[in-house]
Amino acid sequence: MKAAVWLGPADTDELPDDGPRLFGFHGEAPYRFALTDIYDPEPGFDEVVVDVRACGVCGSDLYKIIKSTVEPWTVLGHEVTGVVAAAGSGIDSFAPGDRVVAWHHAPCGDCHFCRRGSFSMCRRFKATNFEPGGFAEKILLSTELSAGSLFKLPDAVSFELGTFVEPYACILRALDRVKLLADDLAVVVGAGFIGQLAITALNERLGAVVAVEPLPDRRVLATSRRAAASLEPGPTVTEVIVDLSEGRGADYVFVTHAAESTAAAAFEWVRPGGTICLFAGPTLSPDVGLSADKIYHMDLTVYGSYSPSPAAFADALAAIAGNADAFEDVPYACYGLETASAATKDQAETRVMKAIVCP
Ligand SMILES: [Zn+2]
Ligand SMILES: [Zn+2]
Repeated sequence: MKAAVWLGPADTDELPDDGPRLFGFHGEAPYRFALTDIYDPEPGFDEVVVDVRACGVCGSDLYKIIKSTVEPWTVLGHEVTGVVAAAGSGIDSFAPGDRVVAWHHAPCGDCHFCRRGSFSMCRRFKATNFEPGGFAEKILLSTELSAGSLFKLPDAVSFELGTFVEPYACILRALDRVKLLADDLAVVVGAGFIGQLAITALNERLGAVVAVEPLPDRRVLATSRRAAASLEPGPTVTEVIVDLSEGRGADYVFVTHAAESTAAAAFEWVRPGGTICLFAGPTLSPDVGLSADKIYHMDLTVYGSYSPSPAAFADALAAIAGNADAFEDVPYACYGLETASAATKDQAETRVMKAIVCP
């Protein structure tokens, strides 16, 4: 089968000694990929092979590329939908032809971490993943993934829209961890793909959402997706938040873009006793401006949220299946395996809001 393999931080035309058959290199480092022919996965007794139809490019894929945190010759991609290609004889609940959405991790559910809701810190969570990765024609799901992390995708949800399930689940799980009230005010920092979905999720749970975003077209979209205000970063943001909250500040700040400037601004916008969620990996800076003094004296809660819970994954699938229209207006662009370089580069450089690789 074919796969798009990320080649690492340097421009290279070198093949590993026992390397796969190559159809060509494309893109420039760090967005340089090779289209290769690798092994065809076969399912074991209780394993499933999925024909990948769509795989979203995640911010974490871009982080791996830009920061070079994975080995060269890795197949990236994990926001996968597709069709069951083959199932082992021990699999009862899936058959070839089933439309599916898959989660690439399988927390055990009963270790110390899982029992406390820290599913993404579970050892089994960290040890599980698709083989090889979503930027490939097929993926193999291990016993653990086949048993707990594979879901039927309703006909009402396109393969492309189905790739929103995993990122939306990450957002729902982040929100599940805080108490939000119907008259709360939230600020979403960054109205990219995650910010747009966060506006949807927050509008379900609280009173009003203010989006802060430098790109004008993304602000327009945020407004059309029911943000109470969509503002350029700057002093006006504080004024509007003060206005909308009777001077208190925002109850909840959801940071999708963890540059120093935006993280520092979150501390300006949050109310005393409020909560800041650092949702994004700090792509631009390893040290966001966390103010220990403010955290203490303003009685703040600051937390990170990484990956979904099993319940949030099911909730996200139900939410998207139940109201696909509410998500269809988030623009995406599809790319082939042979243009995985353009998919990742275009998304990293904000030419597209969401790139989806469709093998
Ligand atoms: Zn993701
Ligand atoms: Zn566990």
